[in-house]
Amino acid sequence: MNASLPVVVIGAGPVGLAAAAHLVERGLTPLVLERGDGPGTTVRAWAHVRVFSPWSFNVDAAAGRLLAAAGWEPPNPKVVPTGAEIVRRYLEPLAALPAIAPHLVFGARVRAVTRRGLDKMSSAGREDRPFVVAWTDREGAERRTEARAVIDASGTWFSPNPMGVDGLPVPGEAEAADAIATGIPDVAGAERATYAGRTTLVVGSGHSAINIVLDLLRLQADAPETRVVWALRRDNLARVLGGGLNDRLPARGALGTAAMAAIEAGRLRLVAPFAAQRIRRSDGRLAVDGTSGGDPLSLAVDRIIVATGFRPDLSIFRELRVEIDPTVEAPPALAPLIDPNLHSCGTVPPHGAAELAHPEAGFYIVGMKSYGRAPTFLMATGYEQVRSVVAAIAGDLAAARDVRLVLPETGACSADPVLPVASGCCGPKAAIAVPTPVAACCA
Ligand SMILES: Cc1cc2nc3c(=O)[nH]c(=O)nc-3n(C[C@H](O)[C@H](O)[C@H](O)COP(=O)(O)OP(=O)(O)OC[C@H]3O[C@@H](n4cnc5c(N)ncnc54)[C@H](O)[C@@H]3O)c2cc1C
Repeated sequence: MNASLPVVVIGAGPVGLAAAAHLVERGLTPLVLERGDGPGTTVRAWAHVRVFSPWSFNVDAAAGRLLAAAGWEPPNPKVVPTGAEIVRRYLEPLAALPAIAPHLVFGARVRAVTRRGLDKMSSAGREDRPFVVAWTDREGAERRTEARAVIDASGTWFSPNPMGVDGLPVPGEAEAADAIATGIPDVAGAERATYAGRTTLVVGSGHSAINIVLDLLRLQADAPETRVVWALRRDNLARVLGGGLNDRLPARGALGTAAMAAIEAGRLRLVAPFAAQRIRRSDGRLAVDGTSGGDPLSLAVDRIIVATGFRPDLSIFRELRVEIDPTVEAPPALAPLIDPNLHSCGTVPPHGAAELAHPEAGFYIVGMKSYGRAPTFLMATGYEQVRSVVAAIAGDLAAARDVRLVLPETGACSADPVLPVASGCCGPKAAIAVPTPVAACCA
């Protein structure tokens, strides 16, 4: 009875749109609900960032087939695009295809998913009931849509981690929100006026943090009063900078080398480890009180950029029977493969519907969100996830099981003897194009 209902896809990012393409290819009806005003809403937020992976890894196979049939000219597979180029050259044309466009709703924010007439506690007949997706439209009106299956591809961008080393916002963090940015603000471009001539504290140790620091240093070259304080929450500079000059991953090594040169030249102040404990307003600035290596330290800054990663929003599926690993917040079968406590650089075997399944049959978390708090996700991984998940929804269990290593996902650490390719990526802006996506051993 549910077969006539659409498969609701939450989010029109690269992975959500790929899911739509696979559904269309299989003759199933997608309904993609996207909270933003267009495809790739969160990719637009980091439009200025040049990714590590070249086009050949960034285009989903089913999406590519649909686009090719419509006369799309694919970008050079070896070229490494920016976020803006991914949206303009790939996601926008894909979303505009006659096979996809009628199934997309923008300004549609999904609030919750449940089963028709059944809360989480009710078991009888559960699997026969359609899903009910509760969402708000552009005007804020509450809407409900029934679905035969739900694919949550909503990413993690809207749930950034706070500044506290304990995972909580430090006292004063919320009150100072107007002077605090998350994500990867375009400090040397669109948001230059906010940061030029000011002192900015960057908190975090991933590639995003390194890129922000390097962008601020670029800004400093033009606006010499610009000051940069970089706080690592752990004393792990050597790992953060990827082994420095000896890093076998060219792009990551180059980022680390540039950051190290800036530290040595005194162009940036590095504080590691730093545990912020409180943020206060003081003389029109921010005072960030904390400890460094056990000693009290107070930093006086104008702006703060918190680049400490992201976490999934688990509230959407509160009424569903969903199993989430308690550490990584990923599906339990996937979590041990990507847990940074177990792998400094993960080797992520191909995986699909089986690993992404939950007790709630027909509900899947895919894409960036499927990695929970682990930072090492690649679009290509998500494309194979949705190929398999859609096959399972279509009842093609053989195809669902036949997961392929779409890219040789052998993570590489600086100590690795060879340069294989990626286990994931957490937000690098590479000035350097590399032929393969490189591993991100990023915290
Ligand atoms: C700076 C940066 C650089 C990266 N570089 C690379 C790289 O080089 N190579 C690579 O493979 N990967 C890279 N990644 C990782 C990852 O592949 C991308 O983040 C990718 O965009 C993830 O795709 P996604 O579709 O899973 O999630 P997203 O792109 O985040 O898409 C999720 C979508 O869901 C929407 N949404 C969220 N909540 C709701 C809701 N409640 N209701 C409706 N819609 C909702 C969002 O608006 C968004 O459009 C990078 C990530 C970052 C941040």
